[in-house]
Amino acid sequence: MNPSTSDALYDRARALMPGGVNSPVRAFGSVGGTPRFLVDAHGAYVTDADGKEYVDLVCSWGPALLGHSHPEVIAAVHRAVDHGLTFGASTPAEADLAQLVKERVPAVELLRMVSTGTEATMTAVRLARGFTSRNLIVKFAGCYHGHVDSLLASAGSGVATLALPGSAGVTEATTAETLVLPYNDVEAVEEAFRTHGEHIAAVITEAAPANMGVVTPAPGFNAFLSRITSEHGALFIVDEVMTGFRTHAGGYWKLTGGADDAEHPWTPDLLTFGKVIGGGIPAAALGGRADVMNYLAPIGPVYQAGTLSGNPIAMAAGVATLTAATEDVYRHVDARSLEVSEALSAELSAAGVDHSIQRAGNLFSVAFGTAENGVRNYADAQGQEAFRYGAFFHSMLDSGVYLPPSVYEAWFLSAAHDDAAMERIHAALPAAARVAAEA
Ligand code: PMP
Repeated sequence: MNPSTSDALYDRARALMPGGVNSPVRAFGSVGGTPRFLVDAHGAYVTDADGKEYVDLVCSWGPALLGHSHPEVIAAVHRAVDHGLTFGASTPAEADLAQLVKERVPAVELLRMVSTGTEATMTAVRLARGFTSRNLIVKFAGCYHGHVDSLLASAGSGVATLALPGSAGVTEATTAETLVLPYNDVEAVEEAFRTHGEHIAAVITEAAPANMGVVTPAPGFNAFLSRITSEHGALFIVDEVMTGFRTHAGGYWKLTGGADDAEHPWTPDLLTFGKVIGGGIPAAALGGRADVMNYLAPIGPVYQAGTLSGNPIAMAAGVATLTAATEDVYRHVDARSLEVSEALSAELSAAGVDHSIQRAGNLFSVAFGTAENGVRNYADAQGQEAFRYGAFFHSMLDSGVYLPPSVYEAWFLSAAHDDAAMERIHAALPAAARVAAEA
């Protein structure tokens, strides 16, 4: 018989898979303890193998915008499954989803579906190099764009959580063509373009960083990147894998005014999407300027392909999710995110814990010991009192609230986070704040 507790499941998993997991942060490496093995997710709740239910503030790291197992998404998936699981050929739902994306994010003139955010950014980088015939890519320390070799230098997410400088197995030749700059630092970007301008193919950035904890772009920073890339014939790649369709129907680009912003207009040349776009089934995409996108095979010389790209089940889940993501959904997620972040801050203050709440739209995170300046870049994020998070996390977990198992990750709310879910979070926070103070 299969084991039926998280402890026993973890033992079995470790004998079969490296670290017992298929994605590193799930291993609870920085917070300690046994990772919970989840067996059910409905609405705002997840349930582990031991039968304990948690209010979920991870939401599968973003996709579950509507809440888990939303009835319309599940129904759409059931309908699609009845017609077959994968065709390896074109299918109408791909254009249905592309159309919905284009309507919401007008910077997308053409879209290519892939299966993961990593593939989307990997392809965007290759495409930028192919289009510009240049080699260098500028990225920002603490930004995570998936586990693309050239983008793992000073990456956030699990690379930050595990305090890795990058990754073994990535050659120096690969990283030599990546310039890593401090986030929010206009002068560093200007200097890079002064020195290397004619060799820079693209600047890639998260629309708002959320993998070193959340960092708010300084006013005008994205507009500055948009301008300087265009002045030098480089492309501006905006990674909206995390923020896209979550912070706003049109992503962080639209949330912050996009091309129409009176003071700081900005337009990406390429955007990457993942998470919400697949509604919980593996799907991701890159899109943007038609002249650039048409450099992709089969029209152009930049090769990219995928056996399961545009998978009909994933397309159905994505179409149902984006269709159900009404203005009310965003209003609800915004309000609940604000409520949780304000309650968190109030309880930490009451317990005397120095902290800042980092925000980008409805995404937020907490950073300990950063009250004075907040977190503006990776150096600030790494300088925080990260040691307070483990005790805080486990106190919340014991009280039935499932947080990201790393202080460097954003917290995610959903349309299903109702009053009952909020009550449990409010009830759990005071004790967690007290143990954070004592850590
Ligand atoms: N870009 C960003 C901004 C991300 O947050 C992530 C994943 N958290 C990725 C890319 C990679 O996506 P995936 O895990 O689907 O490969």
